[in-house]
Amino acid sequence: MPRYEITIEKDACDGIFACLTRDPRFVEGEDDLATIDPGADPVYDCEGEVADTERQVVATFDDDRIDEARQAAAACPTDAIVVEEVGE
Ligand code: SF4
Repeated sequence: MPRYEITIEKDACDGIFACLTRDPRFVEGEDDLATIDPGADPVYDCEGEVADTERQVVATFDDDRIDEARQAAAACPTDAIVVEEVGE
């Protein structure tokens, strides 16, 4: 199973929330920008680590849902989301 990292660059995020409809782990944060909450998915139990700082959200997952994250990244009109495999 690929281990992968999702990064949201907060400078680039416009709070349009197209990402939320592609991957339910994306949620609206307190700063009105997108963040990631592994527990927000109503259907699947999902575990991941999230570091939410002033500039970035970086979440690491170890599951088979990289395609959903990639769809969220593709839907983002400002290219604020980067999805990268980081090894097994
Ligand atoms: S789609 Fe992109 S710009 Fe919109 S909230 Fe998500 S990360 Fe931010």
